[in-house]
Amino acid sequence: MECRKELLPADSCKPKPTDESKLGFGQIFCDHMFLMDYEKGKDWHDPRIVPYGPLALSPAALVLHYGQEVFEGLKAYRGVDGGIYMFRPQANLERMNRSNKRLCIPELPVQETLEHLFELVKTEHEWVPTLEGTSLYIRPTVIATEACLGVKVSSKYLYFVIMGPVGAYYPEGFNPVRIYVEENYVRASVGGVGEAKTMGNYAASLLAAEEAHAKGFTQVLWLDACDRKSIEEVGTMNMFFVIDGEVITSPLHGSILPGITRDSVLTMCRHWDLNVSERKLTIDEVLEAQAAGKLEEAFGTGTAAVISPVGSIHYRGTDYTVADGQTGPLSHKLYDELTGIQLGKRPDPFGWVV
Ligand code: PMP
Repeated sequence: MECRKELLPADSCKPKPTDESKLGFGQIFCDHMFLMDYEKGKDWHDPRIVPYGPLALSPAALVLHYGQEVFEGLKAYRGVDGGIYMFRPQANLERMNRSNKRLCIPELPVQETLEHLFELVKTEHEWVPTLEGTSLYIRPTVIATEACLGVKVSSKYLYFVIMGPVGAYYPEGFNPVRIYVEENYVRASVGGVGEAKTMGNYAASLLAAEEAHAKGFTQVLWLDACDRKSIEEVGTMNMFFVIDGEVITSPLHGSILPGITRDSVLTMCRHWDLNVSERKLTIDEVLEAQAAGKLEEAFGTGTAAVISPVGSIHYRGTDYTVADGQTGPLSHKLYDELTGIQLGKRPDPFGWVV
């Protein structure tokens, strides 16, 4: 389907940020966005690139009341050769369709949607920053737009993509974070929508995150909603532990977001012949390993930070240091390897970069 373009004249475009060391996250938006509509009987139609701006939405739009929405988060990077690289964008669209299914939203045609995404990035290529560690953050989203106050599946949707340059995630360097093990609040439960990337999961996480921040912690470590013992995720990242030579992450049993960085880390660790397990791991097992001196590393994985080393774990009033509290060797190696592949600095043996 041909993408219609309604572009701003060059002299109406915004000036690009001049100091790329101060980009922050999610506050600057490109000049244009992508829109596409869905209506029952008409499928997805009218793909278009238009100037960035407010959406016209009925206050009765179903998304505003019952949260029928899904989104994605991915990045385009300025490679070492000046070209623009994206990391596994098809995996994001495939995950978006799995989220769509769970939220009763019609699936998007992956190949076509991917081509529209490339078209938007090409249109805004000048917005891809060049400073090491910066990137163009891309936020595809689907919302239910039918105006109706009855609880139901919408018959109309809007798919939109907005983008903007974002800063280095580690302005002060690649330093370990302090995490707080949350026992009162839960993020998601099996059978719910935890494995979908949908707004309600993030709304549900805010209060715990606020309380943890107020106590001086960077992220919340979520536990299983039923046993309140098994490790789920950390903040908006998947969680990995290295215990006595075994690299462990929680299995995808329904309440965890299937992270693309998680999958990439698992693939790389298996490629390096490490002992890798996707298995249930309780906080008790982690602390027993810590006491025995066998907790070698802990780190989160996600698009935003790639690898986020964990320096200490706070549980029931006590801080437990992970190994020596510094970034571990596997965290370093994974970070260097993944960012190297993303920027075209290193070979891409898995064919992840587009
Ligand atoms: N878990 C949650 C809840 C997230 O929001 C994210 C970020 N998308 C992740 C894990 C990591 O996923 P990815 O590696 O695909 O960014």
